[in-house]
Amino acid sequence: MTRFTKITASIGPACADKRVLTRMIAAGVNVCRINFSHDTAVIQGRKIDTIRNISARLNQPVAIMVDLQGPKHRIGDFKTDKKYPLHVGQKFIFDNKRALGDSSRVQLPDVDVLQSLNVGERILLNDGKIEMRVTDVAPNKIIATVVRGSEIYSRRGFNLPDTDIATSAMTDKDRKDLEYAIKKNPDWVAVSFVQRPEDIAAVRDFITARTSRPIRIIAKIERPNAVARIGEIASVADGIMIARGDLAVEVPFESVPAISRQIIRECRKLNKPVIMATQMLATMVENEFPTRAEISDVANAAYLRADSTMTSEETTVGVNPVNVIETMSRILAYSDADAIANPYDWSRIDNVPENDWSRSVASMAYLNKACAIVVFARDCDVATQISCRKPDIPIIAITRDEMIANQLCLLRGVFPVFDEKRFAHREAFETAHDFGIDYGKLVIVDGDKISLRTLD
Ligand code: PEP
Repeated sequence: MTRFTKITASIGPACADKRVLTRMIAAGVNVCRINFSHDTAVIQGRKIDTIRNISARLNQPVAIMVDLQGPKHRIGDFKTDKKYPLHVGQKFIFDNKRALGDSSRVQLPDVDVLQSLNVGERILLNDGKIEMRVTDVAPNKIIATVVRGSEIYSRRGFNLPDTDIATSAMTDKDRKDLEYAIKKNPDWVAVSFVQRPEDIAAVRDFITARTSRPIRIIAKIERPNAVARIGEIASVADGIMIARGDLAVEVPFESVPAISRQIIRECRKLNKPVIMATQMLATMVENEFPTRAEISDVANAAYLRADSTMTSEETTVGVNPVNVIETMSRILAYSDADAIANPYDWSRIDNVPENDWSRSVASMAYLNKACAIVVFARDCDVATQISCRKPDIPIIAITRDEMIANQLCLLRGVFPVFDEKRFAHREAFETAHDFGIDYGKLVIVDGDKISLRTLD
């Protein structure tokens, strides 16, 4: 069964062992996510080297995605390790004093955040367990009233769903991490807590000032102001991650599925791939089997024609990361096959203009019942655009550039083949044979030439 929806796996301690990682990649990981929120840059760099070795040994392209931590905000430390209860109606102060916190106040180390908050805006602490509203603003001090109470303690993360924070999406740590990561030749870089298109432009400028390699950029959508500007952000990024973890704290959780569908629609129009992320098989952190609800969540990503699903703690700290990949792969392959057997309504194909060339390629394949589209890929754009039409047949992308092969691993239904000889001799039929396609029709895309050929 051919799996069209790709798997992005977060790599952590549970899969640091080379043998485990090898089995995960052999089981179907297409993209390895290296999360720079954890470990030192040097340790993360070693993981990248290991993945490259495994990929070469298995002769299987795998993309490396470096995920920058971004401005994840945390409160300061408290006087003791105990948890301080906060009750509804109580006032609490956030200030810039270095003094350790107590039951009435704590430091907000990031001055930009203190200055960005306005009266009426919400402060959500500890994954939204505590909700406060700003009731008074003074220089270097915010007074908030507790709306939903719980316990507060040192270094808790917080979210500000109503606030446009003046900071850029790149912190000093991100700059150092990216400087190091660029030397390891990643294929994709994911930017956290994007708020505006300029955040992506800043990362791109940083990259292009240091390398001519066309590293592609993913914008992680986890803030309401990013959702509001999704079209502009997706236009300047090369792909989008629906980062449902923080997103579900910052927006009402019941709106996350609707927002996810909106983002997928927008990205399809703009020819940008989408990763559906976070808690997809969360109970497999501890268990060998997923819940029924998790199976449906993974399947729904395939039915929505997302490009990739993503694992988080399931593979970074879970009991059996190989089993997680096998499980996800089985669910996706089955759902992809069903989605194709009960096909897409072509009359409703996106908002892509009738004369868009990628639409013509997909229609030509559909009307002629082609069994695959073969693209001679000089860059990522042609295969990406065709993939975004969701033609529901394999898109075999033959390239002489290893980075293009790796980058295309993320895209739904695209099967990259890195082979200089096959590219040079335009060996479409031979390559299709390798995918078990022995007869039928192929649509072949080579530069601006599109042809229909019959395999027999
Ligand atoms: C998320 O919040 O869903 C996410 C993917 O971000 P991170 O794991 O980097 O916090």
